[in-house]
Amino acid sequence: MNGNPKPDIRSLSRKELDEFLCSIGEKPFRTKQISDWLWKKGCRSYEGMTNLSLSLRNQLDGSFSFHIMRELHRQVSRDGTVKLGYLLYDGVVIESVLIPADERTTACISSQAGCALGCTFCATGLLGFNRNLTAAELVDQVWNLNEVSHQLHRIPLSNIVLMGMGEPLLNYPQVMRAIDLITATEGMGISPQRITLSTVGIPKMIRQLADDQVKAHLALSLHAATDAARDRIIPYNKQYPVPELVSALRYYHKKTGKRFTIEYLLLKGINDSPGDARSLLEFCRNFPVKINLIEYNPVEGVDFQRSGIKKMKEFRDILESHNLVVNIRQSRGKDINAACGQLAGRTRDEEREM
Ligand code: SF4
Repeated sequence: MNGNPKPDIRSLSRKELDEFLCSIGEKPFRTKQISDWLWKKGCRSYEGMTNLSLSLRNQLDGSFSFHIMRELHRQVSRDGTVKLGYLLYDGVVIESVLIPADERTTACISSQAGCALGCTFCATGLLGFNRNLTAAELVDQVWNLNEVSHQLHRIPLSNIVLMGMGEPLLNYPQVMRAIDLITATEGMGISPQRITLSTVGIPKMIRQLADDQVKAHLALSLHAATDAARDRIIPYNKQYPVPELVSALRYYHKKTGKRFTIEYLLLKGINDSPGDARSLLEFCRNFPVKINLIEYNPVEGVDFQRSGIKKMKEFRDILESHNLVVNIRQSRGKDINAACGQLAGRTRDEEREM
């Protein structure tokens, strides 16, 4: 581990950068100059910031660093999905995924290294929690995947989903800061409507999202609509059972007026019966939603099996017969363990030494 005590300059908000520059006697226009270097030109060192004085560059260097992430490995799936492993400055490894589809590319990024919530179907959950990612590390993933999108598809990123490793709402301050940086006009200028925050359902933080009027789209990884079924696959549900989640989501809808997406992974014999579909119907009576039924991808060391396609369609039909909007999603990148629930940030020692 080669920890660096200086914060990454790219994790500062515009206000914090303003305050720092003011504290060393610099003029306010410097904030824009530095932001342009960081966010428009992708500058990753102070030497390159040629319109700043040497003295200012030295002062910046004395206070802030660049925690550069290094690409460790890149795997390309038969369906074009690309999984990238990144080595962070302190030796931690994370994974991000680029998913191409119909003239669009979606970046699936990680918000934490590992995850504390231990969902029993998820490869990241098996790892346990390592640490929260900083806003700069979140933005770096977006930046890098945007480059990969240009390289491979000649288009910029169309969408960003926080569905990689970790629970974004348990890293709320850094995730919000990253969204600000990604969406700011002096940042990457990506519309918040193109960002999806995916959560397993942290009631207190869902209320916080509503209070903060966060514009990103919300996706709830529900996976089961009763406590009995949900407790088996999402241990965190025992602390905050389904009625508390419903109450927080009602609050969210009332305060924002927004519809959200329910992600539902179909696991054979666990949550895929007609009774489970009816429980989901009951759950959905509380607010307007769109439902994605997701096919399960095998995870090493985990016993679950995916539901058959016939079962998935039966499940969908029950929901659709009550006028719910339902899509069946086939996971992308499953041959390279890049699909939903498969990210584990594993790397071989020789890759680290590259
Ligand atoms: S599904 Fe999400 S919340 Fe659950 S263990 Fe995996 S990364 Fe964490």
